[in-house]
Amino acid sequence: MERKGIVIGGGASGLTAAIWAARSGASVTVLEHMPRVGKKILSTGNGKCNMTNLRMSADCYRCGTPGFPMKVIERFPVSETLRFFRSMGVMTTDRNGYVYPASGQAQTVLDALRGEAESRGVRTVCDCTVVSAEYSGPSSDGSDGFTAHTSAGDFSADFLILAAGSMAAPSTGSDGSGYGLAKSFGHGIKKPLPALVQLRCEGDHFGALAGIRTEAKIALYAGKKSGDVLLAEDRGELQLTAYGLSGIPAFQVSRYAAEALDKKERVYASVDFFPSLDTEGLISELKEQRGFLACRDSETFLDGFFHKRLAAFFLKQAGIDKKRQISAIPDRKLERLAEEIKEQIFPVSGVNSFDAAQVCSGGVRTSEIDAGTMGSLLVPGLYFAGEIVDVDGICGGYNLQWAWSSGYLAGVSAARGRDWTARIQDMTG
Ligand SMILES: Cc1cc2nc3c(=O)[nH]c(=O)nc-3n(C[C@H](O)[C@H](O)[C@H](O)COP(=O)(O)OP(=O)(O)OC[C@H]3O[C@@H](n4cnc5c(N)ncnc54)[C@H](O)[C@@H]3O)c2cc1C
Repeated sequence: MERKGIVIGGGASGLTAAIWAARSGASVTVLEHMPRVGKKILSTGNGKCNMTNLRMSADCYRCGTPGFPMKVIERFPVSETLRFFRSMGVMTTDRNGYVYPASGQAQTVLDALRGEAESRGVRTVCDCTVVSAEYSGPSSDGSDGFTAHTSAGDFSADFLILAAGSMAAPSTGSDGSGYGLAKSFGHGIKKPLPALVQLRCEGDHFGALAGIRTEAKIALYAGKKSGDVLLAEDRGELQLTAYGLSGIPAFQVSRYAAEALDKKERVYASVDFFPSLDTEGLISELKEQRGFLACRDSETFLDGFFHKRLAAFFLKQAGIDKKRQISAIPDRKLERLAEEIKEQIFPVSGVNSFDAAQVCSGGVRTSEIDAGTMGSLLVPGLYFAGEIVDVDGICGGYNLQWAWSSGYLAGVSAARGRDWTARIQDMTG
């Protein structure tokens, strides 16, 4: 008999779940509280949509249950994602493993999902906020029964897929209301915090450095009673802003900053502004530079290394008078200068809010979800997909891969309803 399902949330994971449930023979309705589905997809990858990444491994994901994300992704790996989109007419291209639609437009990805959902008979109800949902137990024919109470009336179904996103970028629709729905079914929520977001730092020098982009390595530490602990590190193009640090390396470590700050720990970033050389190597380059530019003023000394404003900042930190002739800079000052370049300590006072975050850490606890189906271990017929779950990936297409994989698994499992049937059969022998 055809199973009837509701998907709450028409984002990347919800649309994928709906398509796969429909492809597996279910009759599906997507309930979406924005006027249109998939708004967040349009802002991904600066409008180009970094859909996935050819390098996929466990260390690209954070989750309360280590190993959980990869168990799901292995069921629908990157090769299946590429095949899925190709089957919907989307050609892809990759740059160093980062996969984008060949069109260079996120709109292509959304159009493909929307078109496929429509052609598979998925019903989409927009401007429809799900206020509450309940499980009314198995119906007389043995299937499960759910009712979603919405601003557009009640909807009932045999299965329910909760794909309502997180609290990140609430202007795209994910306002955190999905967590309340999950809680109403008895599920625990790990506190959501902003992730892939900018770091706010203390210090009055940021105003003068705002707008500079430079290659750097960032190491994030938490000061604990037992000593300072390295939380995370990353290397890439760092952006200095009027309030602190942005750019991919800052984003990658930000979830750890948010977590440590939430625990009231002291957090600081140690930034190496010349990661390609060790301190000794940098000192010898600086000495060589002194020889090359001997007769000039010190203010030009680092111009060949850094943006002018950053160069001036390091000279000031090292106490080098900008009017002094370069040949007169003593070795000890060059050594100090190298130390300033190799290690700047920035106390981190916070991270930017959910408005600026690309994703959230935290969410529905994975210990209560079956990684083989994305089904709830508490309520039969309830499934989860996407960012609502306590899984967050690093930058680079990993969060969308999580949306595609978890959406696929939730969709096919829900439509087949096999997990609970099998479990009940196991229980009854
Ligand atoms: C600016 C930005 C850039 C990004 N770039 C990338 C990138 O390039 N690559 C990458 O991998 N990831 C990227 N991400 C992250 C990625 O977009 C998300 O992880 C992914 O889209 C999450 O999909 P989702 O379906 O789980 O949630 P969402 O896309 O948030 O969808 C949830 C949907 O549920 C709806 N909803 C919520 N509550 C209710 C309710 N009560 N009733 C009805 N509907 C409801 C919302 O309106 C929304 O449409 C980016 C994120 C942002 C914000």
